[in-house]
Amino acid sequence: MNNYIGSAKIIEKKREFLFPCSHHFYKNPPQIVRGEMQYLFDSQGKQYLDFFAGVSVMNCGHCNPEILEASIAQMKTLQHTTTIYLNQPIVDLAEKLSHVLPGDIKHSFFCCTGSEANEGAILLARLYTGKNGIISLSNSLHGRTYLTMSATAIPMWRVDPALDTSVTIVPNVYSKDKPLDEAARDSLKEIEKVIQSKGADNFAALIIEPIQGNGGIITPPKWYFKELKTLLEKNKILMIVDEVQTGFARTGKMFAIENYDVVPDIITIAKALGNGMPISAFCANDEIASAFTKPSASTLGGNPVASSTSIAVLDYIEKNNLCEVAEKLGAKLKTGLLNLKEKHPLISDIRGLGLMLGAELLKENGEPASEETDLILEGLKDEGILLGKNGLGRNVLAFQPPLVITEDDVELVLSKLDKILCNL
Ligand code: PMP
Repeated sequence: MNNYIGSAKIIEKKREFLFPCSHHFYKNPPQIVRGEMQYLFDSQGKQYLDFFAGVSVMNCGHCNPEILEASIAQMKTLQHTTTIYLNQPIVDLAEKLSHVLPGDIKHSFFCCTGSEANEGAILLARLYTGKNGIISLSNSLHGRTYLTMSATAIPMWRVDPALDTSVTIVPNVYSKDKPLDEAARDSLKEIEKVIQSKGADNFAALIIEPIQGNGGIITPPKWYFKELKTLLEKNKILMIVDEVQTGFARTGKMFAIENYDVVPDIITIAKALGNGMPISAFCANDEIASAFTKPSASTLGGNPVASSTSIAVLDYIEKNNLCEVAEKLGAKLKTGLLNLKEKHPLISDIRGLGLMLGAELLKENGEPASEETDLILEGLKDEGILLGKNGLGRNVLAFQPPLVITEDDVELVLSKLDKILCNL
């Protein structure tokens, strides 16, 4: 006998003590009680292969011993002190990050969540440009705070009834009715039109995910970011790249924007930076960072424990070549998924990079296959595999495992998915 209260009781307590906005996947969700690298275990002792990594957070695996060792050692020595006193982990982390951040990006401001990092990036863009407006793209998700929710275009996450009007939302590169290149061209044209009609002087920055995560693993074509950057530069509008979900080796590069050979003006990072520890940052080069001189600090952002953990994360990624793992196993998974697409007409598209892949499911009439997506997730869960879902129609299977999986894990997921699709 164990002392776990069990799933039903947890759901009951959630209803009683959390807000009703807190949702969960699955008809009978398991109570997850333990994690070990790519595996999670429930209160009944059942083992699951985790193929969602808490939405691209646990890139280095659950309870990774090397990372835990760094966190615990720091926790036992010094947990927190105001940023006004000097401590070393935060500067060591900033220095280490400067070696892996794209181009000349070098300065970091640490906070705790992705929303906060994006909020700070927008503030920095406004301080630097002296302008106000923000451009964001359809299907995007940038956070839950007022401004980042205003910059979030996925309808289900736009909860505030009085969102900020300084954000203009333009079409992204996804269209059910057009090929990717054509939709991407149209997206650029629309961005240009908005800049012309409202005036370049009205926009400080455009914020964009290199691959839209919650929006449905929307992956722009190779040329898109270069042309977008040129357009923005011409209009003195900064490019903020939100790497909250795509960063830290997930796409086969340290940062997804590197797949597009573009250096953004500001980059935001969170999730996998802490491998489960709350830490995030917005980062910029000397020139842009120099616009932020007024005193500002986050109480817990980049605290010694979080910073020491992130240093261990960066070391682990490098030592274990996680970029290569994501690229190699991502290629294997993508090939397998493309084969399944040939066999199962329900799969309409496979997209993404590295180990951030999505399989879109559409019915014969072209409508999102949301119920089928749920059935597949349930089936995989029963088979001991936890997958994610996203997309506007909640009809995109999301493959975003910890980057410590093996070839066998990829093969297992493909064969179980095939079996479930055959029996659907
Ligand atoms: N940006 C992106 C791309 C995200 O996926 C998320 C969270 N899913 C956020 C920002 C917000 O991060 P947080 O929940 O840590 O505030």
